[in-house]
Amino acid sequence: MSAPAVDLLERLRAQPGGEQLLAAASTGTFLVGGAVRDLLLDRTPRELDVVVEGDGAPALVRRLGASRHPGAAAAPEGHPTDALAEPSPTIGPAVVEHPRFGTAVVEHPRFGTAVVELDGARIDVAMARRERYPTPGALPEVEPAPLAEDLLRRDFTVNAIAMTLHGEHPGELRAAPHALEDLRAGRLRVLHERSFLDDPTRLWRLARYRARLGFVVEKHTTELTAAAVAGGALQTVSGARIGAELRLALAEADPVVTLAMLERRGLLGALHPRLRFEAPVVERALGLLPAGDPQCRPDLLLLAALALPLVLRADGDPRAEIAALLDRLEFSAGDRDRVAAAAAAVPRLVDELPSVARPSQLRALALPVPPEGVALAGAVSEPAADSARRWLEDVRHVRLTITGEDLLAAGIPQGPEIGRRLEESLRMRLDGKLPDEHSAQLHAALGLP
Ligand code: ATP
Repeated sequence: MSAPAVDLLERLRAQPGGEQLLAAASTGTFLVGGAVRDLLLDRTPRELDVVVEGDGAPALVRRLGASRHPGAAAAPEGHPTDALAEPSPTIGPAVVEHPRFGTAVVEHPRFGTAVVELDGARIDVAMARRERYPTPGALPEVEPAPLAEDLLRRDFTVNAIAMTLHGEHPGELRAAPHALEDLRAGRLRVLHERSFLDDPTRLWRLARYRARLGFVVEKHTTELTAAAVAGGALQTVSGARIGAELRLALAEADPVVTLAMLERRGLLGALHPRLRFEAPVVERALGLLPAGDPQCRPDLLLLAALALPLVLRADGDPRAEIAALLDRLEFSAGDRDRVAAAAAAVPRLVDELPSVARPSQLRALALPVPPEGVALAGAVSEPAADSARRWLEDVRHVRLTITGEDLLAAGIPQGPEIGRRLEESLRMRLDGKLPDEHSAQLHAALGLP
């Protein structure tokens, strides 16, 4: 891990956007956080996080924009990226298409940060700052500060390392106490006692890093996590922020390990006391869900699996309860309804899938349910697994060779009759009573001998 400065610079240069970032950097510009951690571990950073000391961030953003078109000058005064220098009370991002350079910039004026999309790379630019938490769990108030303080406001020591990008010693590292030794040892440690109380989303971040990097958690940090969870720290955080953490966990390369970690640390239970993560069931369900099929969503399967205890020990209206939970976590309406429908369908599928005889019956049972629900039912109950697999891999894809257009052209008037005839023909096709041939299917749909 102890890569010399020149190696680190080369690793950065090899990242998308790295070359342009080095060219655009000026005095007081540092690569920080996960980007430095990942370069030191020789992993690929997901994005490049940059802090600039003083008020140089807007100028860096402009230079990065200009670097896509080397001939172009910096953006004119008054360009929207100047909002960075003039904090406004707005919370949340403003998306700004840079008209002149074709570079998208997303700004968070309140935090003095901007995101630059550059040749497929994402560069997060922020002014070096200190943070103050007005109340536990609330968003912080920020003000400019030297780099050393910016490092100390971070979540874990391994994310509190900065690399100089400009000046006499580019590639040189500056780190919070313990940071380099913790990275070398593969250890996660908070920077101060109140860390999880100030921002309990760090409990989620810890579980994600632990699962992704395979790091251990330093002893005192473990004690602080247990105390924070037991003290109800997560109750101080908005549903939207916890929902964002859950979505990040689901998007990890190995979400199963990540969710298992979250469960073990009591973080899922803090979302809803009945949520459970049963890795063997989830592994079986993911095995049944066709991989790479755009109509199948492993992330939603994981969510439906978490919510299963709400359905299996139902009192009240589990579907509404799941929907209310996902609303609180600010999932989209489409995802919310699909997860609730998938989980709620499991008990009936478990009852009925084992006894379906004909493929047309299988279709009638499974079609109204999202594929994630069918996979879960097959994972929960061994007798349901065969039918679930048959539906997901085969029966779901069977189509007729004729369409409504064929029936219209043959004189069937527009209306529900067309759908009814197609559905009946598909039933026959599924049950092996119709060949795959176009004319035979058309004859059957038209009721001809
Ligand atoms: P990833 O690889 O998941 O992108 P990352 O470490 O780059 O991980 P980001 O969420 O991109 O994480 O955040 C960038 C950096 O900002 C982190 O490395 C950390 O230093 C700091 N950071 C992010 N969230 C917090 C937080 N809640 N509290 C303190 N510091 C944070």
